[in-house]
Amino acid sequence: MNRDAEHTTNFPIGHKHGSTVVVRISSINSTSQMRSGILLCMRLRCSSWILRLTLAVLLAMALPPLTQAQVIKSGSPSCPGVALTFDLCPVRKGTGYDQALIDYLIEQKIPATFFMSGKWMARHEQQVQALLQVPFFEVGTHGEVHTHLPLHSSEEQKQEILGPVRLLKTKYSYKAILFRPPYGEFNDETVNVVRTLGLQFILWNVVSGDPDLTITASQIEDRLKRSVRKGSVIVMHANGKGKHTREVVQDLHEQLLLERNLTPMTISDLLTCKGKVAP
Ligand SMILES: [Zn+2]
Repeated sequence: MNRDAEHTTNFPIGHKHGSTVVVRISSINSTSQMRSGILLCMRLRCSSWILRLTLAVLLAMALPPLTQAQVIKSGSPSCPGVALTFDLCPVRKGTGYDQALIDYLIEQKIPATFFMSGKWMARHEQQVQALLQVPFFEVGTHGEVHTHLPLHSSEEQKQEILGPVRLLKTKYSYKAILFRPPYGEFNDETVNVVRTLGLQFILWNVVSGDPDLTITASQIEDRLKRSVRKGSVIVMHANGKGKHTREVVQDLHEQLLLERNLTPMTISDLLTCKGKVAP
């Protein structure tokens, strides 16, 4: 469905102008008057169409495309909170779990949201249990095998998305609502599938860049200083790929968020802005 077309066809001012013109024509008698009336009518209709077209263009500029409206990148810019989000993408080497980071979040009681891929869950049953038990953590999903969704058909995308959702429900009795596409890649079909499945499509608006081995903790912190504000959703990793992630989170917790009066919240709390506000 095209939202812009909807606004154009239902636009009430155009209809109102049209009916006014018709009434005026019925009261004109002479040919010359009629000609000038027709010209007037054409001018009025023309100006009406120009008005409609101008307003339609302005509306189209003001409204985001329909698909983008379903994709959440941040909370409200008036909410004094930020969401620290951690992807759990599958890894080939290493433990695939940043225990020091999780311990720090728990010790400091920092709310956080984790996006688990099915392949990662298959190798980390204890860790899945541990994360689900923390009351200030929220868990979403991140695809089954961490594939590039736009390369697949709608049905294939559905299966990829559903894998970890089913596993969390059947094995852990947890209903996962949040979904983040692997690599942040998606197309219109992805958005439709996610909506049909009743999931919330969560991206981010602040990239930490934590898996990049060429950058230091202070470079990541500088990047966050430039971009973190009210309603921010920050993407990081808890699968051990971020060598400086724990250090960066500590800096956020002890400095940046305090300085800016921002409270860490889970995604769901950020979207409703119901998190506890820092003293
Ligand atoms: Zn990922």
